[in-house]
Amino acid sequence: MTTISPLIAGNWKMNGVSQSLDELTELAHLLTTGEAPRAVVVICPPATLVAAVAAQGASSGIMAGGQDCHANASGAHTGDVSAYMLADAGAQFVIVGHSERRADHGETDDHVRAKAEAAIGAGLKPIICVGETEAQRDAGEAESVVAAQLAASIPDAAGQHEVIIAYEPIWAIGTGRTPSNDDIAQMHASIRARLVDRFGAEKGNTLRILYGGSLKPQNAREILAVENVNGGLVGGASLLAKDFYTIISAV
Ligand code: PEP
Repeated sequence: MTTISPLIAGNWKMNGVSQSLDELTELAHLLTTGEAPRAVVVICPPATLVAAVAAQGASSGIMAGGQDCHANASGAHTGDVSAYMLADAGAQFVIVGHSERRADHGETDDHVRAKAEAAIGAGLKPIICVGETEAQRDAGEAESVVAAQLAASIPDAAGQHEVIIAYEPIWAIGTGRTPSNDDIAQMHASIRARLVDRFGAEKGNTLRILYGGSLKPQNAREILAVENVNGGLVGGASLLAKDFYTIISAV
């Protein structure tokens, strides 16, 4: 059996100013004075703080990631940030296809795949988000919806590079609700099977599949122990160092 080192990524979303780096200082303190973390730790702050997080996090092993990137390397795209710019700022990861981007900016699977390709081209590891709505789950379509997103959002380049999948049921994000452990296990097994089908057993069994959606200090230990859950993508609970550290320590 392949062992996959778990990864816990914090998505600060549109939260955080320079003062928020105090939480990073606190997290670094907890990580370096407590028991050594068994997980790779990533913080994805707003683009304005990526360089600061990358610089400040380095000494405690905290890595920085972007929350999105443009598919092009540069050009006339006012307000956008490219994968190269994130890499230049010190990021090593970038979230692509988060459901809030898909909903707020009309991002399709094709956009997400192009962004993931751009990320790989810039030397970043894309965290590719997929997940169903509540109506889709109620209609028994969760696995087929996620399978279609995976097929269209993951670039072929994932066969030779590292990509990370984040399963985030949309109805669980920011709501305090989570699927049952059995439902998480079933979805992650389905994702694993599709990765193996597409990229072969050797590669498909090494790619991380994160769970995201109301992952909290209270439920982290249970959820992170579910088979094929190789870490988590954490929104709200990543904003406070103490909570995020408790989740990291639950691995
Ligand atoms: C997210 O937005 O990626 C997320 C998982 O949010 P939360 O943990 O707040 O549900």
